[in-house]
Amino acid sequence: MKHLYFSILSVLLFTSAQSQSIITKDPEIEKMVSEVNPDSLRSYISKMVSFGTRNTLSTQKDSKRGIGAARNWVLSKFNEFAKQSGGRLTAFIDTTTLQPDGRRVDSVLLLGNVVATLKGIDPSDDRIFIISGHLDNMRSNVMDRANDAPGANDDASGCAAALECARIMSKRQFPATVIFVTVSGEEQGLLGSTFMAEKAKKENWNIEGVLNNDIMGSNNSNETNIIDNTKVRVFSEGLPAYELDKKANTIRNFGTENDGLARQLARYVKETGERYVPNLEVVMIYRNDRYLRGGDHTPYVQRGYAAVRITEMNENYTRQHQDVRVDKGIQYGDLIEHIDFEYLRKNTAMNLASLANLAKSPGKPLDVKVEVRRLTNMTNLSWSPPKSGKAKGYYVLLRETTAAQWQKKFFTTDTKMELPYSKDNYFFAVQAVSVDGNESLAEIPVPARQ
Ligand SMILES: [Zn+2]
Repeated sequence: MKHLYFSILSVLLFTSAQSQSIITKDPEIEKMVSEVNPDSLRSYISKMVSFGTRNTLSTQKDSKRGIGAARNWVLSKFNEFAKQSGGRLTAFIDTTTLQPDGRRVDSVLLLGNVVATLKGIDPSDDRIFIISGHLDNMRSNVMDRANDAPGANDDASGCAAALECARIMSKRQFPATVIFVTVSGEEQGLLGSTFMAEKAKKENWNIEGVLNNDIMGSNNSNETNIIDNTKVRVFSEGLPAYELDKKANTIRNFGTENDGLARQLARYVKETGERYVPNLEVVMIYRNDRYLRGGDHTPYVQRGYAAVRITEMNENYTRQHQDVRVDKGIQYGDLIEHIDFEYLRKNTAMNLASLANLAKSPGKPLDVKVEVRRLTNMTNLSWSPPKSGKAKGYYVLLRETTAAQWQKKFFTTDTKMELPYSKDNYFFAVQAVSVDGNESLAEIPVPARQ
């Protein structure tokens, strides 16, 4: 048996942003990442700020001010990028009419998400990956629809990242579909993302990943004076919000509380982001969101989709949801002067690398099983090829049960593998990998008795 193990290519995974890896990068993704431009990001944010306010309840009739003008401008940018896409990028404003809800909507509201879809080129690949930011913003009073609110970081930064990814990716072709969206109504109660996630669920969209970018352009805490543009957070739920009652027993029995869809996506974003973006550490946070706060990934996770929140490491609360003013020598308000465009460039590049690697990858391996019929100190895994895409082979991933990230990967062109590691002592998963080295999301095995 021993020769078998030597035939398996074993690769030690890097465990921090600094250490070396022998994983090769995809030159096309490296090229895309190099195109992320801080000047483009600055021009998008400065334009979004110029609309005075983007409060969801603000005017939709003025051509220069308010949420209506802002979303028309985002649409015009997507349409500009569409020209270089050979007809594959299409954009529109997806609207719905909401009635007053007695909370943060006080009159009939035409809500609009600006949605740009880059259609995948493989007709057998129905996977969708989404990058989302919220175009709306708020002052100290969320119902104040008239006065100025710049919203440069919350969340013109996330919208700028979505626009920049659309600009760069629309020139290229991917097997899977990528959607770039700037929603409205986030501050009014996640209205735009709920509208979109609900539609996706009803229409059975095969969404494999949602990257919600919200407040990611200025890593600068107001109390602890940390200014550091080398760390960004990715939040992911542990126990699933969706149908937990149906899954709780399995999760308890197999110890998979740290292996849900959102957590796998967070791991993927960390590994891929750090692979392509130097001097950026993607810090996984094991919770769905921060205390007292919500975000646009949540309507997706509540419907069973893998969705994560990407946010700067340290927030500055004198700049969020604050009227612009100077009080006791402190400048309040979400001003563009506070954005660190080099930091935003890195965070945008991290999103782009993750989206591109996902959209180029084959589908996840199917029917992934771990054999539990016999008591043995070995691990026997098997799986079937993915539904879409051509897999050059597969990575079997391994980590200790206390480890946050995958620690080893073993390559094989087969659809099964025997490993001299006890299934009781490690967690495993399998990824399909393309000819260019693009990995699918990791699929964890289910126990099989035959
Ligand atoms: Zn926000």
